[in-house]
Amino acid sequence: MKIGILGAGQLGRMLALAGYPLGHSVVFFDQGAGESTTGIGTTHVGSFTDQRALSAFAKECDVVTYEFENVPCESAHFLSGLLPVYPPPRALEVSQDRIVEKTFVQNLGIATPRFEPASSESELLEACKKVGVPCIAKTRRFGYDGKGQARISNLEDVHAAWKALGGTPLIVEGFVQFSRELSVLAARDLHGDIAVYPLAHNEHVDGILHRTEIPAPELSPTLRQEAHAIATKILQELNYVGVLAIELFQVGDHLLVNEMAPRVHNSGHATIDGMVTSQFENHIRAITGMHLGSTEARARSVMYNLVGTLPDTTTISAIPDAKMHLYGKSPRAGRKLGHITLLNPSESTEIELKSRLLS
Ligand code: AMP
Repeated sequence: MKIGILGAGQLGRMLALAGYPLGHSVVFFDQGAGESTTGIGTTHVGSFTDQRALSAFAKECDVVTYEFENVPCESAHFLSGLLPVYPPPRALEVSQDRIVEKTFVQNLGIATPRFEPASSESELLEACKKVGVPCIAKTRRFGYDGKGQARISNLEDVHAAWKALGGTPLIVEGFVQFSRELSVLAARDLHGDIAVYPLAHNEHVDGILHRTEIPAPELSPTLRQEAHAIATKILQELNYVGVLAIELFQVGDHLLVNEMAPRVHNSGHATIDGMVTSQFENHIRAITGMHLGSTEARARSVMYNLVGTLPDTTTISAIPDAKMHLYGKSPRAGRKLGHITLLNPSESTEIELKSRLLS
């Protein structure tokens, strides 16, 4: 099949690389020519709101998917009138607005942090009083990697938070004293079957994912079951097709949903080397009508993101178990340039990798 991918970043690149062995080809659509997909497939450059450009793109494809969640919903709906679009555009609608998302999740009987909407400085003050301080104010839309957020420790911080966030509609969330951050990635195919990956334990630096370990260590069966139940309910409710990522806070032996991404996800990159079927392959399988592959772990996998600068690749390649993935992007502060996955690493291998990443 010819798969159309909205977005030409590293996720699009890795989706394409998973699609080729299955006999598919790929065409991208993005607002600029992506560095990550150069040489991987042709890119239609145009505005996501240009229906003529989208129609021309659709003519070349059998199915369309997306690699980022800020594709305008109207564009996804427009394309879905021309050919199948997976995941369903409703998944975009739900995940693009944090209030809509958390309301949707709560309506399924799933726990989230306490939250209140706020669209003015006085509403922000009231919301902080209702939720209680400390709390976090976040823009309802377009937040990523911790951007568009302000921590409010006491009510005197409200004015500065409102100014810092640009006066846009906000969500105020109670500050959760979580013990750790987890994510669950799950896929649903066109046959309605669901496969769930082992949970990932995620650690962030400066709001950007730094290290992920799959399967998350010391995970109780209760938590595993809870995560499976959460993923299954959401996938079924959305009549979802493809891979969905759900970010979770662990509090004691319970989970709260922080947010979800209707796409393949950074915390699942270790599935390429560490699981029987990668998240990218399962996404491609799902949207092309195939059955899902096993999500079982072949190894305990630890992934490090390469952010901002690239290490000396020859030095890294001297670690036999380090699987390196580079995205072809030019270095820039805060930019995700690649990742390295270690399989069944000893403590000393991880220490060695970290020292080589710093040298
Ligand atoms: P988000 O953009 O919602 O994924 O938030 C980015 C990061 O901020 C998360 O990975 C958490 O580390 C932290 N964070 C977000 N929401 C909360 C919350 N309600 N309580 C505590 N920490 C949070």
